[in-house]
Amino acid sequence: MVIAQYYLDTNMLKDKKNTDAIIEMPKAEIHLHLEGAFTFDFLFELIQKNGGDPGISSIEDLKKKFVFKDFSHFIQTWLWKNKFYRKPEDFEESAYQTIKNLSLQNVMYAEVFFSPWDFISQGMKIEEITEATISGIRRAEREYLIKCNLIADIVRNYGAETSIQRLNQITPYLNKGVIGIGLGGSEKEFPAVLFKEVFIEAKKRGFRTTVHAGEAAGAESVWSAILDLHAERIGHGVRAIEDPKLIGYLLEKQIPLEVCITSNIKTKVFDNLMEHPFDYMYKKGLNVSVNSDDPPMFGADITDELTMLYNKLDYSLNDLKTLTKKAIEASFLETSEKKKYSDKVDNYLKNN
Ligand SMILES: [Zn+2]
Repeated sequence: MVIAQYYLDTNMLKDKKNTDAIIEMPKAEIHLHLEGAFTFDFLFELIQKNGGDPGISSIEDLKKKFVFKDFSHFIQTWLWKNKFYRKPEDFEESAYQTIKNLSLQNVMYAEVFFSPWDFISQGMKIEEITEATISGIRRAEREYLIKCNLIADIVRNYGAETSIQRLNQITPYLNKGVIGIGLGGSEKEFPAVLFKEVFIEAKKRGFRTTVHAGEAAGAESVWSAILDLHAERIGHGVRAIEDPKLIGYLLEKQIPLEVCITSNIKTKVFDNLMEHPFDYMYKKGLNVSVNSDDPPMFGADITDELTMLYNKLDYSLNDLKTLTKKAIEASFLETSEKKKYSDKVDNYLKNN
């Protein structure tokens, strides 16, 4: 039997029946990085295929490698695993396995970041990586009940001067697998305003837009993503709570925030779930969704995030349904498709 990779801690389960209902529930995910969402089985095979590593002789060794001491250890491990991606077919298989794994958790629709520029030092072309990634996604879509669109993360750290070049490289794939652009990377060192020009141009070309902000930097970074880049969605956005005026603005405009709770705790934006503002933001009526960011890196995927809210914050199945529908509503899908997926969530819970 094929089993999805998720990380449920069975010791913390409140009740099995509703946990099973959460696993089975149709889901959506709109903030997930393909480079951080590999399955351990896949990565283990990739390492063996492309030279091996003396410290990794089993999947258990690999899982241990992904327990981080601190943020710089996290980045080191991220770069270490990237070096095993050597050929286009590695990206095809990686995308296929990741999307398949989402489908096994009953994710119906996913918008997934990818950043082919992270791999150019390995001698591959952006076009090769992009085409292989789209091909892997299409294969998973044909074999499983899932749909997926890519968002190209043009990454702040590669600089504003060359960002138009990255946009040009990705433009041939617009609406052929790629639906939008994103802006991840070092929020403090490379402020959003530097990327104003590329975002104006991307919008002109028809790209949808989302910007990581309010994670490593504070509310001013979220303001800039909204006012300078006119981002349609904000990745994270949780440090908006530092500015009541911004919270009021986000509430009034209902700007979608792609919240990734476990990621924020693991990267120490907040110390623990009780300190995390998600519950406050949701109950205040902000347009929040729940997402997983980099599941194997942080040890939690979308199923875990929803189960955590149920088990630890007493969210009802109905709350989880609302959050899933918010993710669908905030997605870059056409209205008719949003309705199709929303109806699936409604129909599922009617029967549970
Ligand atoms: Zn992210």
